[in-house]
Amino acid sequence: MSDKSDLVVVYHRQPYEEVELEDGTVELRENKSPNGIVPTLKGVMGRMGKGAWVAWKHAEDPANPDFERVIEIDDSYGKYKVSRLPLTPEQVKSFYHVTSKEAFWPILHGFKERYNYDPVDWPTFREVNLAFAEAAANEVSDNGVVWVHDYNLWLVPGFLRQIKPEAKIAFFHHTPFPSADMFNVLPWREEIIRSLLACDSVGFHIPRYAQNFASVAHSLTRARTVSDEFTDESMTPRGTALSERFTPVTMEHRGRRIRIEVNPVGANSDYLAEIADQPEVDEKVAAIREWVGDCQMVLSVSRTDYTKGNVEQLETFERLLARRPELHGKVRLMMVSVGANRAMTAYEEVQQKIEELTGRINGTYGSFEWQPISLLSSALPLAELVAYYRAADVASITPLADGLNLVAAEYVMAKGDNGIGALILSEFAGCAVLLNGAIPVNPFSHASMDKALDQALAMGEEEKLSRMAALRQSTRRWNITAWRDHTTRHFKELRATPEGTIT
Ligand code: UDP
Repeated sequence: MSDKSDLVVVYHRQPYEEVELEDGTVELRENKSPNGIVPTLKGVMGRMGKGAWVAWKHAEDPANPDFERVIEIDDSYGKYKVSRLPLTPEQVKSFYHVTSKEAFWPILHGFKERYNYDPVDWPTFREVNLAFAEAAANEVSDNGVVWVHDYNLWLVPGFLRQIKPEAKIAFFHHTPFPSADMFNVLPWREEIIRSLLACDSVGFHIPRYAQNFASVAHSLTRARTVSDEFTDESMTPRGTALSERFTPVTMEHRGRRIRIEVNPVGANSDYLAEIADQPEVDEKVAAIREWVGDCQMVLSVSRTDYTKGNVEQLETFERLLARRPELHGKVRLMMVSVGANRAMTAYEEVQQKIEELTGRINGTYGSFEWQPISLLSSALPLAELVAYYRAADVASITPLADGLNLVAAEYVMAKGDNGIGALILSEFAGCAVLLNGAIPVNPFSHASMDKALDQALAMGEEEKLSRMAALRQSTRRWNITAWRDHTTRHFKELRATPEGTIT
């Protein structure tokens, strides 16, 4: 039997946790929680026959003969190979922390002013992407699919097409995809787009990102959209910022067909429901409610990142306390802002600003009995987070730009069947086009932010119940099972179609 794989996942992180033991050896442990992107991708791999995974791994000396490049893993998702690319700390810094996070990330999210081009070392980015493509080409069976994830691997499809012209290549973007006016700020735009056009399918969360991709491709190449369809009403509420009436379906470039896939990654509803029902979570909810006392609790959960709008949210809360003294002692903001990578200046700046603002607001308005804001800067285990979701009167999710945002869906799912609560949701989070029942907000407008918070705090029980029911229904449609089924079907179709002829 061939040792090649039917599905090769190409994702920068390894599909397990590396835990260093006391004796200095490293143990590979299956990720504890089935929540998160790694288990989600593994869930598809488990359904596609023989699987393999390509990722990078730190290596001080990539030439060291003791470095185990390919290992075999056997966990609850089955047996699969992991091909590890040894990258030096300098390569990781250049390809990931500089090129991907300082140049690509701000452009993907529409922050031209934060884009930092000078430190980018493009040859290193190309070299790392080429190594991923070579490893994937080595692992994939003749009729297998290589599934590449996210912008830090944008050049993999182009290289892979050269190494293995018949390969079936699918790419999925987990972030927004910007319009041509924004994307074309990147000087490497044409190389990136030509690489993506070498795929058999390019995937996005929502129709707007797919349409932006098509327009960027039109702006830089002779690729054309050969078919599109009316966007389903459930994916594009009229008049919202990210709505899009038409969704591209097939593009053509140099005689090859490329399928444009729209398939939003959902939250793991079964797992969240299971956690939300645990007796320990009930106890934690009761403890949080006791701590909150007579106050209404507003919950904000995100990574610390300028795209997430935490600073804007704190400023809104400060304005609330200045505008409405009758709410002093009656409302609390619980902000979970998880520091991603403190070594990166852009994130450190945001963290500092968040800490400063929290200190200022608590110092100005707080008393011994009442602290307006509680700030948590490290990640909560999911069970604890679910308890906060359940305990919160209002969840306020106000990113300035966000590929999808799972926290919003998790809040709804954790509330359960008779859940009661209000969700304030930025129009610029991808999931805003998927969720009905939220209070929409424009985080660039003080008036809109103030109004949404007032509305959520004043909302009566009946309205909360009916909005929550609508939210529940819409989150059900795009949970993780729907995403996995759609993806698996799509890959089967890809494998059954000769390369480049998909319609
Ligand atoms: N999360 C967590 N603990 C925390 C904060 C967040 O486990 O203290 C998880 C949360 O449950 C969610 C994910 O982190 O699944 C964040 O995903 P989202 O799509 O909202 O944002 P991203 O960080 O991917 O941009």
